[in-house]
Amino acid sequence: MKAGDFSYRRAGDVAEATAALAEAGWDGKAMGGGQSLMPMMNLRLAQPTQLVDVSAVPAMRGVSADAGVVRIGAATTHAEIEDGAVPGRLGQIMAGIAADIAYRAVRNRGTVGGSLAHADPAADWPSALLALGARIVVAGPAGGRTLALEEFQQGAFWVALEPEEIIEAAELDEPGPAARWSYRKYCRKPGEFAEAIAAVLHDPGGGTRVVVGALDAAPALLADGAALIGADLERCRAAVAAVAPGLDDYGLQLHAAMLRRALAEVAA
Ligand SMILES: Cc1cc2nc3c(=O)[nH]c(=O)nc-3n(C[C@H](O)[C@H](O)[C@H](O)COP(=O)(O)OP(=O)(O)OC[C@H]3O[C@@H](n4cnc5c(N)ncnc54)[C@H](O)[C@@H]3O)c2cc1C
Repeated sequence: MKAGDFSYRRAGDVAEATAALAEAGWDGKAMGGGQSLMPMMNLRLAQPTQLVDVSAVPAMRGVSADAGVVRIGAATTHAEIEDGAVPGRLGQIMAGIAADIAYRAVRNRGTVGGSLAHADPAADWPSALLALGARIVVAGPAGGRTLALEEFQQGAFWVALEPEEIIEAAELDEPGPAARWSYRKYCRKPGEFAEAIAAVLHDPGGGTRVVVGALDAAPALLADGAALIGADLERCRAAVAAVAPGLDDYGLQLHAAMLRRALAEVAA
C-alpha cells in the first residue's frame, strides 16, 4: 500500500509547527522520525493531508541538564540516547533501553517524542520513562503546559494532546546516587515489540516507582510500589492482575515473571 496524498512542511521552530498544525486541524499530523507514522499512512490507518516535520526544530533537539533536571528534546533520536546523549546515571539507564529498541536503522530516525505521542503500550519509552518519573512539556499555539507522564498517557495509542499541540521535551530528575533500577521486557525475538514489560526505580532519596507495561492500556504505575520490592511470583501475579484484570493466564504469567525479576534485581 502507498500513502494517500499529503503536503509536507518542515517546521523551523516550535511556533511554526504549532501554527501549521492549528491551521490543518484534524487533517494535520506532527512527524518525528516517521517510523510509526509512515507505516500507518502506507496502510491507510492514518490519512493526514498535512505533515508537519518537527525533527529538525532546534528547541526539540538534544539534551541539557541543569540543577539535577535533565531535559530531553522530543526530536532526540533513540540512537542519540544509545550513543550517550543523556549524561550521568540517567544516561546509562536510558542508553540501555534505547539499545534494545528495534534495530539501528529504526533507532537512527525514531524519536523519544514520537514514541511518547504514538503511545504504543508495547513500546519502551512509555513504560521506562513512567518509571523514571518523566514530565512531558507540551507546546501549543496558546502556550505550553507540563504534565506528569501518568497524566499524559491516557490509554493505548491515546495521550493528552490536542491536534495543534506537540511534545516539545521530556524532563526527568537525575536519580540519586543510591538509586537502583531494573528494566525487564519479554520479546519473542530481539528487536520486536515487547509482550511484557516491568520497570522499577527504587531511589531511597526520591521514592519507588514500579511500572507494568505492554498491556492493552497505558502502562500502569503500581500503587505502593515500595511494598513490592522483593515480592515473590504470587504477589507479582496479584499486583499485575489488579491493574490488568483482562489478561489471560499466559499474559499474567509473563508480566508477573518480568515484574518479579525487576523487583528482585533492585532488591539484590
Ligand atoms: C520495525 C520496527 C520495530 C520497532 N520496534 C520497537 C521497539 O521494540 N520498541 C519501541 O519502543 N519502539 C519500536 N518501534 C517504534 C519506534 O521506536 C518509533 O520510532 C516510535 O514509535 C515513533 O517515533 P517516531 O519519531 O518515528 O514518530 P512518528 O512515526 O514520526 O510519529 C508517531 C506518532 O507520534 C506523533 N508525533 C511524533 N512526534 C511528535 C511530537 N514531537 N509531538 C507530538 N506528536 C508527535 C505523530 O503525529 C504520530 O502520531 C519500532 C518501529 C519499527 C518500524
